[in-house]
Amino acid sequence: AHLDRIAAVDGVVHSFLHVDADGALAAARQADEDRAAGKAASPLAGVPLALKDVFATSDMPTTCGSKMLEGWTPPYDATVTRRLREAGVVVLGKTNMDEFAMGSSTENSAYGPTRNPWDPERIPGGSGGGSAAALAAFEAPLAIGTDTGGSIRQPGAVTGTVGVKPTYGGVSRYGLVAFSSSLDQPGPCARTVLDAALLHEVIAGHDPMDSTSISSPVPQVVAAARDGAAGDLTGVRVGVVREFAGDGYQPGVERSFRAAVDQLAKLGAEVVEVSCPHFEYAMGAYYLIAPSECSSNLARFDAMRYGLRVGDDGSRSAEEVMSLTREAGFGPEVKRRIMLGTYALSSGYYDAYYGQAQKVRTLITRDFAAAFEQVDVLVSPTTPTTAFPIGERTDDPLAMYLADLCTIPSNLAGNAAMSLPSGLSDEDGLPVGLQIMAPALADDRLYRVGAAYE
Ligand code: GLN
Repeated sequence: AHLDRIAAVDGVVHSFLHVDADGALAAARQADEDRAAGKAASPLAGVPLALKDVFATSDMPTTCGSKMLEGWTPPYDATVTRRLREAGVVVLGKTNMDEFAMGSSTENSAYGPTRNPWDPERIPGGSGGGSAAALAAFEAPLAIGTDTGGSIRQPGAVTGTVGVKPTYGGVSRYGLVAFSSSLDQPGPCARTVLDAALLHEVIAGHDPMDSTSISSPVPQVVAAARDGAAGDLTGVRVGVVREFAGDGYQPGVERSFRAAVDQLAKLGAEVVEVSCPHFEYAMGAYYLIAPSECSSNLARFDAMRYGLRVGDDGSRSAEEVMSLTREAGFGPEVKRRIMLGTYALSSGYYDAYYGQAQKVRTLITRDFAAAFEQVDVLVSPTTPTTAFPIGERTDDPLAMYLADLCTIPSNLAGNAAMSLPSGLSDEDGLPVGLQIMAPALADDRLYRVGAAYE
């Protein structure tokens, strides 16, 4: 049924870069047989899923939305891919994304944009717009994204779906093509909080192949979601982040957020306002740290190891081939970030830029720590605006970057955060997301509060 749905709507929505119908049907049949034999691998055995095209898959191409990796099929599976398969989850295909996960609209894909199923003239968010749109268009009931600065939560918000950035280190990055290694975090995308929880437990857990993987037990997120579904938040302290309001926030988004806070109070939560004074510097710090790490990580696309190779006709030096390949293979946003990062890391500038940004990162982590002494979770709008029209921000990188104003602090601090649907804006009728943030390792709180609110 999902393959039929993809065939019917993906010509317009363009959630997928690659669909593996045969592989999906074979995996589904296998899951059916296993279930009939009483040995279903997990509660999600046989359930279809859309996988962001940034995870290595040994049986499908992995392009990261870039010409640089067009047609490249990795020789191995990412840990996330492997865990999905072991759980019997049916991988339908690979979803569209901003090139190397850099963007907030999926317009930076080298293979054309994904459209928002709520309004095909609008963006589905990014970088994981394909995964979110696949859920919103009912092409898949589950998806996987990655969140470096908001790429799971912001697409979730603007498509009316659920997206979770787990605690950094909670889900393995092995086989995830790296953008900014200290920020990148894979996570579940779904249409309900419980579905996200079931998927979270499939993909999370320690992995010796990822040196930043956490070895403590996976938070009991499914139990928390079931518990929360009873709708009682008595005793839960919810902090409203004072800094995430005002200029730049659409009135419809602010009204929806206030209604969400009222609803949390009605469910029994104790609501207080908290201040996180350094959050206003998060964006500046992120756009030094992420490009710096990106400039280093993307050095591997050198025309020698894998992917595109341009101009290798025997007359040119390795350096010339490398340069021609990177010129042709990377899109403008990726080049912008490589240049920014190379500059920020260069000798003489390192302390002034990268070093300063790392200090700001510490201050933001401390803001979270102080807030979580007063409250169990923090809440904010996920994004300042609803889905914007395709093309509106493509010539204005700073306007594009603002889409992640509220999501970036959790990446810098490494704590857990969720976006879930919070109704439609009374301004334009488009979905609004509520963001819930919890301390590192307390991912279960997101699911408890999210399931109660849902
Ligand atoms: N939009 C942000 C960026 O462009 C975040 C991307 C992400 O989380 N992968 O960097």
